[in-house]
Amino acid sequence: MTTFIARGSVRKGSPPPQEDEFLCVRCARHMETCCKTSEVYITPGDLERISRHSGDKDFHEFKAPTDPVYLDKGDDPAWLHFVFRDGGTRRVLKRRKDGACTFPGAAGCDLPLDIRPLICRIYPFDFNEEGLYEELARGCPTELLREGRGLLEELNMDIDSPRLWHKQPYEEIRLERPECVSGTPDSHS
Ligand code: SF4
Ligand code: SF4
Repeated sequence: MTTFIARGSVRKGSPPPQEDEFLCVRCARHMETCCKTSEVYITPGDLERISRHSGDKDFHEFKAPTDPVYLDKGDDPAWLHFVFRDGGTRRVLKRRKDGACTFPGAAGCDLPLDIRPLICRIYPFDFNEEGLYEELARGCPTELLREGRGLLEELNMDIDSPRLWHKQPYEEIRLERPECVSGTPDSHS
């Protein structure tokens, strides 16, 4: 199973979520959100777009995953090959003490959608190089969905944009190892 964003734990004694709030706001009352629990890989393209937008480069670092869930990509050899460096590190967003990256704002992510890391944009879809999975990722609190409403509806998302974005990470992860000129995992020795 390919997982790009980890699920947070439910908080004990948190105030009950209000039905009229956006799902991510209800989620933040209920549990640690994806922005606080995830080790988000960013592509070289993400790095360039975010740097240009923010005028800063001090928001990323190279680290090995602390959660083994990010290594479980048996059906995605290109991801494992291009994203991980020798020694097992990869380019991720830096995280503050509370676990969040440097971009959450009062009303969600401070980065415009077209600048946001591709993984964040595509979530809650999981994917491999072949395409998006039919089943959505399990990180969102589906127990908070209102009656008759699906997760995508509650997140104001549809499948069309993630389908369009899906190829871009695979083009950009190949920039991590430009010496692999043919762009296939087997071409790197
Ligand atoms: S995307 Fe899902 S896990 Fe992340 S804040 Fe929104 S509801 Fe919570
Ligand atoms: S970049 Fe934005 S969406 Fe992605 S983890 Fe950080 S705050 Fe959340």
